[in-house]
Amino acid sequence: MIWNPIKECMPEEQKRELQGKRLHKLVDYVYHNVPFYRKKMQELDLEPGDIQTIDDIVKLPFTTKQDLRDNYPFGLQAAPQSEIIRIHASTGTTGNPTIVGYTRKDIDVWSECMSRCLTAYGVSRNDIFSVAYGYGLFTGGLGVHYGVENLGATVVPTSTGGTQKHAKLLKDLGITALACTPSYALHLAEVIEQMGITKEELKLRVGAFGAEPWTENMRQEIQQRLGLKGYNIYGLSEIMGPCVSYECECQDGSHINEDHFYPEIIDPATLQPLERGKDGELVFTTLTKTGMPVLRYRTRDLCSLLPGDCPCGRTFVRMSSIKGRSDDMLIIRGINVFPSQVESVLLGIPECAPYYRLIVDRKNNLDILTVQVEARQEYLAQGVDTLAPITALERKVADRLKSVLSISALVQIKMPGSLERFEGKAKIVTDNRKLV
Ligand code: ADP
Ligand code: ZN
Repeated sequence: MIWNPIKECMPEEQKRELQGKRLHKLVDYVYHNVPFYRKKMQELDLEPGDIQTIDDIVKLPFTTKQDLRDNYPFGLQAAPQSEIIRIHASTGTTGNPTIVGYTRKDIDVWSECMSRCLTAYGVSRNDIFSVAYGYGLFTGGLGVHYGVENLGATVVPTSTGGTQKHAKLLKDLGITALACTPSYALHLAEVIEQMGITKEELKLRVGAFGAEPWTENMRQEIQQRLGLKGYNIYGLSEIMGPCVSYECECQDGSHINEDHFYPEIIDPATLQPLERGKDGELVFTTLTKTGMPVLRYRTRDLCSLLPGDCPCGRTFVRMSSIKGRSDDMLIIRGINVFPSQVESVLLGIPECAPYYRLIVDRKNNLDILTVQVEARQEYLAQGVDTLAPITALERKVADRLKSVLSISALVQIKMPGSLERFEGKAKIVTDNRKLV
């Protein structure tokens, strides 16, 4: 089934014409409503009239996460506050969070795009759908929730945590569809098994998994253990949230909701556009957003746009799975963590020396962040002869990290000089999560 065949199966020419019209309108809108974009365009000697077709997009300036931070909280908002009906914030916490305001129209577009995803997964009004993404500032929970309601299926807003209660609800309510991160799906599978519930006692048949990278092997394992078919869902709060792209039944790449989010792939070093099929950094322009539209937003996600048509009939271009990032961001338990954030916490603690490591593991399908940091010689010289002060320091570091990163880390204090020193590029982060 296809939710909106008129849009999802648009002939290429017609689609490009629509994208061009929407881009022209968008550029005019931000030029007159967001001083940041006006200034950037003036610097390039550009006026809204210069952007007439979708091919003109390459003339426009890029936008980065730093631009969003520098304009915190509402500097890039185009609509007046009275038009904004909801605010979300990105999960990352380097300095200022990224605030995204949505108008009623934006929320409607979001729900429409979510309904397209869910329909592609085979979800219908007859499904009972558990949304186990976090609700709150994170876009996952409410984003999927509105889509399920718009589609007319029954939504169960389970959110994250309370895994045993969730397992019981899956069984008792006969829940048929589930949305969560792939790692949480595996954790849930484990809890279900520990509770002695078999997959035959469950009615699960569809899973919408995303918000973090995952692999075919993980898909196989989740499918086998939960007895459902798992589909990819991709999104980011700066553009909308979940639903920017979605897999269809062919499961060969994810279709981008191209009438609303225009994708480009660029070489992250030269910023030049790359042709179809080439791996590079994914860039999005929100063609219809009115709250906080963005021009050519650099996602830092590395992937390609797939050439060729999809047998499902949708003409929206497909993106490959995400192969990495062009920055050093880690996604730990769904939360964006930059090594620099950890560094700034450690450097703010006088007892810690500036030598540290980040190790990420996945145990029982949950991400574990270990932070090793050397104590300063002066600190140890104060007659530390038992481990007690070290334990106190570990706790202090762990508390600081928790308050800044919003996730718990296992802290190990190391003796001065014990961590390897590097002559070339330091290898600070070891990610042992094998996504294969
Ligand atoms: P959200 O709050 O919607 O998760 P964030 O801005 O916190 O948005 O995180 C978005 C990032 O999460 C993306 O840029 C990408 O790196 C990652 N991500 C989201 N969905 C997927 C997916 N299906 N596969 C791989 N990575 C994903
Ligand atoms: Zn398809």
